This record gives sequence, structure tokens and C-alpha cells, in this order.
Amino acid sequence: MEHYDVVVVGAGPAGCSAARKAAEEGGKVLLLELQPQIGGPTKSAVWVPENFPGREFALAEVSEVSSLHLHAAGEELAFSAGGRILNRQVLEKLLAARAAEAGAEIWLGSPVKEFLMEEGRVRGVVLESGDWREKVGSEVVIDASGSGWELSGIFRRRFGGWKREEVMFLSEYTMANALPRKEVEIWFNSYFAPGGKIWIYPLGDGFAQFGISGLRLHPEAALDEFLGVENPRRLGRSVPVASSRGQFPIEDPLLPSCGDGVLSVGAASSQTRIFSSGLPLAMECGEMAGEAAVNGITEGDTSREGLLPYERRWKAKFLGELRAERLVHRSLSVAWDRKFKELLTLAREDAELRRSLLRLMQGEEVGRALMMMVEREEVREILGEERAGRVKALLRGEGVEE
Ligand SMILES: Cc1cc2nc3c(=O)[nH]c(=O)nc-3n(C[C@H](O)[C@H](O)[C@H](O)COP(=O)(O)OP(=O)(O)OC[C@H]3O[C@@H](n4cnc5c(N)ncnc54)[C@H](O)[C@@H]3O)c2cc1C
Repeated sequence: MEHYDVVVVGAGPAGCSAARKAAEEGGKVLLLELQPQIGGPTKSAVWVPENFPGREFALAEVSEVSSLHLHAAGEELAFSAGGRILNRQVLEKLLAARAAEAGAEIWLGSPVKEFLMEEGRVRGVVLESGDWREKVGSEVVIDASGSGWELSGIFRRRFGGWKREEVMFLSEYTMANALPRKEVEIWFNSYFAPGGKIWIYPLGDGFAQFGISGLRLHPEAALDEFLGVENPRRLGRSVPVASSRGQFPIEDPLLPSCGDGVLSVGAASSQTRIFSSGLPLAMECGEMAGEAAVNGITEGDTSREGLLPYERRWKAKFLGELRAERLVHRSLSVAWDRKFKELLTLAREDAELRRSLLRLMQGEEVGRALMMMVEREEVREILGEERAGRVKALLRGEGVEE
């Protein structure tokens, strides 16, 4: 049986970042990906803020963004915005390349079926595909297998204090023959995308990404219906040339997020964003996981206790903010579009509120954006005083673990 210090399951943004960091810290690392390619067909495009790691991902860049247009219940608010749209299929290959450069070994087409257990602790993984079955030993396993796959369910049941995964469903089309624009457009619509949104991202050269997320079970039907009813002008003569569907969890992040010999990170652990892409968050938590895994090995303690620095670190940085974001989402989700319309009306006269909405949609300084919002009396009225008070407390770090 082959043996590694750290085995990382899943080569998404969390797994690639964990593998790179663990290898940089001196670990012997294996990164396992179920799909035959990294950044597989369901990965599409992501809007990242200007400060997203330098220009090192320039190869993945497909468009700049010039403005953001928010729509809700007939109200439209347009304001200038920055950042870039990155092609995730390319971005994730670049992230994997960085992991490999740091020394991580990568196996494609390698589905992990189970954790390898010994005396109640994880000692590696079992790979299984058709007739092929192989065990790989390791000091620590990092579960970065994303949402809705079997392995994260096993982690949840065995280590993560089982609770049902609440998910947002999504569907996306890559549209060809779209009008060449640099605007990001987002609609909040209670009928087509309850609790979620519909978006158009520019992809450059007459292409656009047209997607929907929400609590509806058949997002692609909603996307087609929206196209028929709203007929966004820039998509008027366009046709879909690729489609994908997916889901991501929206319940509070998973706790505990580590057990004896194992850590869970990224969407597998519900470390996701509600209003923006969870990709930068998954990358940062991935780095924390990779570092903690190698530290545990170096210190000779890879029990849950020895891996706890990972959990303490991500909780200290993100838990309050992520719980606050979820609470704001729950507060807005009844009469979703009417409440967003009220927010847009307020933001029309309020530059700071516009900046906060932009930060929220881009996933940049989310805690700061939410705090600014709940400090406005009119926003507190929309959210409800009691919930707004809890959001404020969470952002101040009070009652985060209750
Ligand atoms: C269109 C779209 C919109 C999204 N919108 C949002 C959003 O608004 N907010 C948000 O937070 N997230 C959103 N997500 C999800 C977002 O992609 C994740 O938050 C982010 O990718 C998390 O990265 P990850 O590395 O944890 O998981 P993933 O990117 O899902 O990567 C997991 C990887 O593990 C692999 N894998 C799974 N099981 C196994 C196994 N048993 N063995 C080996 N490999 C395995 C998968 O093939 C995959 O490559 C969206 C996703 C899509 C597709």
C-alpha cells in the first residue's frame, strides 16, 4: 500500500489549495480527483474582485467587468463595478499546476469510495472504480470533495455531527452570439429564483454565462422560462452552446470540521457564500487545512485535538461572517424580490450602501459590507430589528457558536 503524509480528496479550489500548501510545508502529498480532468465540465465562470490573487491567473481571465446592474421587482440599479470574470475550467487547472509545482502528486479518474479506518481513526482512503480497488495510506486525509458527493456525506455522518444538507440548486448556460458587453447583471426574482438569483456574466467575444440559483428543484426549467418571459436584450439572438447544473450547501458551516486523522474543507464542509461565489473562501480555508495537516504531522499529533488549529483558525476568521450572511439571507427570503427592491431603492441615494451591495455580490469584505448595511435604520427595518441585531452581534463575534 502506498503511503503519503497527506491525501487530499477532490481537486476543486479547496483541494488544490490544500494540496499546494501541504506540499509547500514539506508534506508528501497526493491529490485525488474523481473526474478525468480538473476543472471538469460543470465548472463554468466566476466573478472575482480586483484583489483576487494578483495577476497570476491571467490565463483564466475571460472578461473585465465595467458595471453591475441589479434588478428586483421592476426596479433596476446600475453602478460601476470592477473585478474580472475567470473561466473556472482553466483556473482550477492552474491551481492544480501550482499544487504540482509545490510537489503534490495528482491522480485523475480516482474516486475515493471510503475512508480507510483503523481503530476508530482515519488512516487513508479506499479508491474504487469498476474492477479497480486500491488502498492508500496517509497520516491525514483532507476531504475537499465538494457538495452532494458520497464522501462528504460519510464525513458528515461519522465526524461532522450529522444534519441534513440544505442546498441551493443551480443551472447555467454558456450563450453564444450574445451582445458584447462588460456588465454583470443580476436579478432577484421570487418566482424564478426563490432565495437565489439569475445572472449574466460577460465571457468576452460574444459569449455570456447565463445562470440561475435558487431553492427550486428544477432550475433549468426556471432558466428557460425566465429567458422566454424576460428576454434580456443582450441575449436576444443568442443560443446555448453548453449547459451544466449543480448545487451548493447553504446551511451553517459544518462543525466539527475535523476528526481523528481527517479534516473537511470547502463546500464539503458548507464553507460557502450565499450571495457570491465561494471560490476564494474555499481556497483560503483549503490553505488553512493543508498547513494544519502538516503541522499536526510535524508535532506528532494528528488526532482531532492535533488538527483543531485548523478549525479554530477558519472559525475565528469566517464563522461569524458566514452565519451572519445566512441570517440575512433567511431574513430576506420571504418576499425576496420586494425586499431587494426596497434595498435597491435605498441604495439609489446611498453610495455606501451601493458599495456594500457590490462587496456582497463579489464576496469581498463581506463582514464589513453586512455591518454597514445593518447600521442603516432602513435596512434594519427590512431585515427585522431582532434579526438585524443578531447579525450585528455575530459580526462582532458575539454568540457565534450558539
Ligand atoms: C454555477 C455554480 C454556481 C455556484 N455558486 C456558488 C455560490 O454562489 N456560492 C458558493 O459558495 N458556491 C457556489 N458554487 C459552488 C462553488 O463552486 C463552491 O463553493 C466551490 O467550488 C467550492 O470549492 P470546493 O473545492 O470545496 O468544491 P468543488 O469545487 O465542488 O470541488 C470538489 C471536487 O471533488 C471531486 N470529488 C468529489 N467526490 C470525490 C471523490 N469521492 N473522490 C475524488 N474526488 C471527488 C469533484 O469532482 C470536484 O472536482 C457554485 C457552483 C456552480 C457550478
